[in-house]
Amino acid sequence: MTVPLPTGTTRWRCTLCGNLTRFDVTRSSKVVEYVHLDLAGEPKVEEREVLSETIESVRCRWCNAVDKVELVDRPGADS
Ligand SMILES: [Zn+2]
Repeated sequence: MTVPLPTGTTRWRCTLCGNLTRFDVTRSSKVVEYVHLDLAGEPKVEEREVLSETIESVRCRWCNAVDKVELVDRPGADS
């Protein structure tokens, strides 16, 4: 099952326990990093561009259910 992505007017809700606020999100992303090394050779990432991003799973922090989220309206959203 794919995880529905929240939008500007919707948010995640755990269908098992009703949690709205705490999730562990497993995400795979392809990024380009601008790595700037100082003279001692210490690297520092100064810019990061996300080329693509996929949410693989969402786990509820309250009841540990995996991928049991649904979309509900955010408070105050016009629907
Ligand atoms: Zn839950």
